[in-house]
Amino acid sequence: MIRLNQVKLPLDHNQDALQQFVLTKLNISEQQLVNIHVFKRGYDARKKNHITLIYTLDITLVDVDEAKLLTAFEKDTNVRISPDTDYQYVASAPANLQERPIVIGMGPCGLFVALMLAQMGFKPIVLERGKSVHERAKDTFRFWRTSELNTESNVQFGEGGAGTFSDGKLYSQVKDPGFKGLKVKQEFVAAGAPAEIIYVSKPHIGTYKLVTMVEKMRRKIIELGGEIRFETRVEEINMEAQGEDKQVTGVTLHNGEVINSRYVVAAVGHSARDTFQMLHDKGVYMEAQSFSIGFRIEHKQEMIDQARFGINAGHPILGAADYKLVHHCKNGRSVYSFCMCPGGVVVAATSEEHAVVTNGMSQYSRSERNANSAIVVGISPEDFNNDPLQGVALQRKLERHAYVMGGSNYDAPAQMVGDFLAAGKGKPFENVEPSYKPNVKMTDLSEALPQFAIDAIREALPAFAKKIRGFDSKDAMLTGVETRTSSPVQIKRGADLQSLNTKGLYPGGEGAGYAGGILSAGIDGIKIAEAVALKMLSDIAE
Ligand code: FAD
Repeated sequence: MIRLNQVKLPLDHNQDALQQFVLTKLNISEQQLVNIHVFKRGYDARKKNHITLIYTLDITLVDVDEAKLLTAFEKDTNVRISPDTDYQYVASAPANLQERPIVIGMGPCGLFVALMLAQMGFKPIVLERGKSVHERAKDTFRFWRTSELNTESNVQFGEGGAGTFSDGKLYSQVKDPGFKGLKVKQEFVAAGAPAEIIYVSKPHIGTYKLVTMVEKMRRKIIELGGEIRFETRVEEINMEAQGEDKQVTGVTLHNGEVINSRYVVAAVGHSARDTFQMLHDKGVYMEAQSFSIGFRIEHKQEMIDQARFGINAGHPILGAADYKLVHHCKNGRSVYSFCMCPGGVVVAATSEEHAVVTNGMSQYSRSERNANSAIVVGISPEDFNNDPLQGVALQRKLERHAYVMGGSNYDAPAQMVGDFLAAGKGKPFENVEPSYKPNVKMTDLSEALPQFAIDAIREALPAFAKKIRGFDSKDAMLTGVETRTSSPVQIKRGADLQSLNTKGLYPGGEGAGYAGGILSAGIDGIKIAEAVALKMLSDIAE
């Protein structure tokens, strides 16, 4: 197959245009063209009234000497042989496998570790502190409706992990030479995701579809011999000394039960603060990691569509518009938009009592009236003395303060952008109705974050308005606080993906500092599954 990159056509090109392009570009006849497969489709909206679609195509040919054709295009980097993107399993478990690997956490990382290990025959045991996704959805929606929080079953904890109630964006900037991201997406499609996620450049699934997909993937793991236990919190990872290091021997659960295994994957997410503490107390090597703090901002989606797509706003191929913004401030800080949810809502995302944390989610249709994103300021380990757990302490402090500012009932503090920029008091909202549930309390948000962060956001919003007209409009809505953009710790691991000083412990996903979203967590899960499988086979062989 021949791959054509950077195939640019107008947004409204007709059905035949792709074929015509291929025939002309490769100088072949219609009879020689067997199939055009769209590997990727993105768009360039820099000129909003002249948006172009950009394709990557895989072309199947017949009666064509591909080697000769490629020689003719030697100097054209957009014509190459198509790479082999099929996933190859690295191992297969022996029938008489004695030991089973343990996977802690069933977010996208743990889910893919378990699925891949199960597909290779390693029959993992998955331990998830939260409930099954159906029961968890009930608890989460109850919290949004009634302010009754279940600290073990919420937006962060439970089957499917943190991204289950989300926009389900499925793209990532991680380097992925082995096409593991494609494998993640193929498994999602097999579990019911729309087929387009394979080829559109910014795929998303939306929250309801994710819930049913996770259930299907769970069933597959169980069919393949895996075991999944919900409402099962790992209290301790057990270890024994091994020279200067340690070797994992298993886990102790919240009910005192011990499960032995020399292979334990910790895919606990960025909100498992008690688990970080336990690992730190046990001497597992970890370092503080940068994260960000800020607010969620909401605008009318139609305003963002107009600003981004002009006369093409509402075009079905483009869908609801997103954006990505960054501003480098005079005080040396950077402010950026994060986890943008077109046509979505702001959600209450705490897993701890007496805390308010914002995040965003949307349905596949992205049809809610507001667009939202986090507007956050990066902070680095030096901001919290490089102590691994001080970042957690800072997050918690800000979340508890936001809880008090919101009225101590899980309502979130909010303010219109105009009032925030003018350092004014919180007045009732006007045009942009805040979507956060249970509710918001209009107040003065300048007290919600450290002064450097407030200064940076005040500088950035007008700068963003130069890229998206109206971004700093006075009725845009800010809701706080956004603190869980990434993990405040990194649990260091070596090339074999085991903890640097605790053999048999495989820290993975976002909580350990190796992923920043659903797709990258899934990719990391595949890498870990491969590493565990190969290590188990080599230990068996010894
Ligand atoms: P998690 O998904 O956090 O999963 C960790 C799991 O471990 C949890 O289920 C938890 O209950 C369990 N656990 C923790 N401690 C223990 C223990 N001691 N014992 C047993 N189980 C334990 N990313 C995107 O790419 N696109 C999006 O659109 C998007 N939207 C988001 C919206 C929201 C509201 C949130 C909260 C996050 C969103 N994210 C999004 C981020 C994404 O969800 C995370 O990056 C991803 O889920 C990380 O996967 P993970 O498997 O590493 O950890």
